[in-house]
Amino acid sequence: MERQAVNRAKEAFLSGRTRPLEFRLQQLHALQRMITEKETEICTSLKQDINRSQYDTPLLELIGIENEISLAIEKLTQWAAPRQVDRNILTVSDEVYVQPEPLGVVLIIGAWNYPWAVTLQPLVGAIAAGNAAVVKPSELSEYSSLLLRDLYPVVTGGVSETQELLRLRFDHIFYTGSSTVGKVVMEAAARHLTPVTLELGGKSPCYIDKNCDIRIACRRITWGKFVNCGQTCIAPDYILCEPCIQGRVVECIRQTLLEFYGADPKCSPDYGRIINQRHFSRIMSLMEGYTPVIGGQTDASQRYIAPTVLKDVPPHSRLMQEEIFGPLLPIVAVSDMDDAIRFVNEREKPLALYIFCSDKKATKKMIEETTSGGVTVNDVMMHYTLSSLPFGGVGQSGMGCYHGKHTFDQLSHQRACLIRSLGMESVNLSRYPPQDRRRARR
Ligand code: NAD
Repeated sequence: MERQAVNRAKEAFLSGRTRPLEFRLQQLHALQRMITEKETEICTSLKQDINRSQYDTPLLELIGIENEISLAIEKLTQWAAPRQVDRNILTVSDEVYVQPEPLGVVLIIGAWNYPWAVTLQPLVGAIAAGNAAVVKPSELSEYSSLLLRDLYPVVTGGVSETQELLRLRFDHIFYTGSSTVGKVVMEAAARHLTPVTLELGGKSPCYIDKNCDIRIACRRITWGKFVNCGQTCIAPDYILCEPCIQGRVVECIRQTLLEFYGADPKCSPDYGRIINQRHFSRIMSLMEGYTPVIGGQTDASQRYIAPTVLKDVPPHSRLMQEEIFGPLLPIVAVSDMDDAIRFVNEREKPLALYIFCSDKKATKKMIEETTSGGVTVNDVMMHYTLSSLPFGGVGQSGMGCYHGKHTFDQLSHQRACLIRSLGMESVNLSRYPPQDRRRARR
């Protein structure tokens, strides 16, 4: 079945059908219609998968996809046009340009936490760039995956089906998921010298400076950490702050949680659940040995874990070694901003970095002295919403980037084109042998 899907995509690409701009636009319009018409069903699928609030799905996934489609439709002619570039003295009268062209068949493998965005946003770029695509949504977000299969030709299945796909040859693989599987994908791609985009995860730090508006900072952090029940690749993974503000940070998060989810988040229609039993047990084991200052209540039958905050977490504890990807928020004490910078730099390069600070100079210093896929200051996750910004990781958090034109470029080949005439042959004489004739010409 996997092989058939890939062969179909290959045939479609080789037939040349996917190349004309009219075809690409028609496909993009069809995708746009699908999202608009099926919004209710899509929201329901995520309610079933992770109990996500019906209001969050349009806000967190669908608006973003729709914006990406509209932008691609609006800009396609411009993006796909040949780009004239500078000439040198030897090519002054030639035509010199860069022509973006499709790569061929793109394999898109998605994760389960935002199953629509992580499959359809790369697809928008793949279509816009004139490629044929094979889409493999995550088996873990079962309802979303089955609905997507009803709406769009995708390959469904789990690890063995993905491994089967990975044995085949593609022209690009766009993978979203964990770093562990990212390595499996890259290894398989290497066998065919297939380029990859890896949108991975990691621990995204969040530094709160003692002089900022802590109440507002905690409100924004609480939203970003606990939306989707903490299962967001760019959620703030942990907080770094000075010990003197830790108590106030905890109190502000407590007040915000009460405001967002009420006294018992388990009863709130806005609070999600963990995707499956394996992830539930994984997150539970990360909590072992701690007494949370907020939350800590769980219910295995519903895969419910309350929004949980842990303070004075030791920097070398297990909680601080792996990506949490759940509703646990550790606070680690640092002595000042320099200490926070050192802390971040001693660890793997994160997907996102958040800095809450009202001193512009200090903020710039922290940006300059650290690295991460992206950074948002005085808020969380908002850099993701801009199509103009490349979204992606660095180091262990991934390679390559996408969103807007970045997706188009990522899934295009930038072909170098030089067109000359057969005239003016005398200009070329100095490069032709034999040597003595060259010397005589000088
Ligand atoms: P997952 O388990 O659903 O895996 C992702 C995909 O890989 C699925 O399609 C799955 O079928 C496939 N897969 C899983 N194991 C495999 C194996 N052994 N061999 C081949 N294929 C395999 O999702 P996940 O990995 O749990 O996703 C969560 C991770 O994704 C987190 O680390 C998160 O930070 C990251 N993430 C990153 C982004 C981003 O844009 N950078 C977005 C969402 C999630």
